[in-house]
Amino acid sequence: MSATIISGAKIARTIREELHGQVAELTAGGLVPGLATILVGDSPASQLYVGMKNRAAAEAGLHSRQSTLPEDTSEAGLLDLIATLNADPEVHGILVQLPLPKQIDEAKVLLAVDPAKDVDGFHPMNVGRLATGDPAVLAPCTPRGIVEMLMRSGHDPAGKHVVVVGRSNIVGKPMAFLLLRQAPGGNATVSVAHSRTADLGALTRTADILVVAVGRPGTVTADMVKPGAVVIDVGTNRVVDLDVDRGYRVVGDVDFDGVQEVAGAITPVPGGVGPMTIAMLLANTVEAAVRLRGGGA
Ligand code: NDP
Repeated sequence: MSATIISGAKIARTIREELHGQVAELTAGGLVPGLATILVGDSPASQLYVGMKNRAAAEAGLHSRQSTLPEDTSEAGLLDLIATLNADPEVHGILVQLPLPKQIDEAKVLLAVDPAKDVDGFHPMNVGRLATGDPAVLAPCTPRGIVEMLMRSGHDPAGKHVVVVGRSNIVGKPMAFLLLRQAPGGNATVSVAHSRTADLGALTRTADILVVAVGRPGTVTADMVKPGAVVIDVGTNRVVDLDVDRGYRVVGDVDFDGVQEVAGAITPVPGGVGPMTIAMLLANTVEAAVRLRGGGA
C-alpha cells in the first residue's frame, strides 16, 4: 500500500486565495487587516520565518510591518514596542518571533500582547479559553492548520483516536485541546505522548490519526503505525546532505519512505504542516481584525 499524500502546500494555497478575496472585501469596506511582526536578534532561521510570514501577509492583501530589534534589546524596550502596537488601530495581529534572547523573559512578553491581537494564540488568556473549549478563540497556528488540513482532506477527527506525540505549548498541548473541543474539527479521543511515555510504539499503533511533533528525525517508523492510519508530520529538522548546494535537507520526525507504505495518508516535509501554519496566521489576523472592528464573535 502507498499512502495518499496530503499536500499542505496545496491546501494552504487554496486558503490563501480564499483569504485574499475576504481581505479585498474588507478593504473595500475600509478595514485593512494589519499584521505586525517583531524579530529580536539575527538568527537566520527566525529571519527566514518572519520574512515568509510578512511576504504571505502582503500577498494576501494585508497591511504588514516588521520591527527588527537588535540582539541586545532590553525586555523593557520590547515591552514598550508591544504597548505601542497594542494601541495602534492599524495593527490587528501581533506576532513576536520566538525564541527570544536570554535577557528577555518570554512569559512576560507573551502576557504583554493584547489577547485580542494575539494571532499566535500564546497569551495565557487564550490558552485558557482554548483549554475550556471556547470555539471563538484565536488558536495557535500550527495545530489550527493541522485541523484544517485534516478536515479539508476528508479526515474528520470526530470519533477517531488521535495520538499526539509531543507536549509542547506551541504544538502538542494546543493540538490536544483543539481535537477535544466539542466543535467541528474536534470531538476526537486524544492521547498525548512525550519523552517519558513507556512504550511509544504500542500507543502509536492504536492511532487512527497520528500527529508527530518531536523535533527528532526518524522518531516514528513503519512498525509504529497502524495500517491505513493518517500521519501528520510536524517535525522540521535540518540534516546534513552534502549532495545539495546548501549542505542540508529539511526532514520531518517520521520515516517518510517506510511509513508511507503502511499509512493511509501522510503529510510530506517540506510542503505539509509548514505552509498551513503560515496560512493560519493570516486567517487569525483577518479574524482578529473583524472582531476588533466589532463585526463578529
Ligand atoms: P519541543 O522541543 O518544544 O517539544 C518536543 C516534544 O517532543 C516534547 O514534549 C518532548 O517530550 C517530546 N519528545 C522528545 N523526544 C521524544 C521521544 N523520543 N519520544 C516521544 N516524545 C519525545 O518542540 P516543538 O513542539 O516546538 O516542535 C516539535 C517539532 O515541530 C520541531 O521539529 C519543530 O521545528 C517543528 N515545528 C514545526 C512547525 C511548522 O510549522 N511546521 C511549527 C512548530 C514546530 P518532553 O516534554 O518529555 O521533553
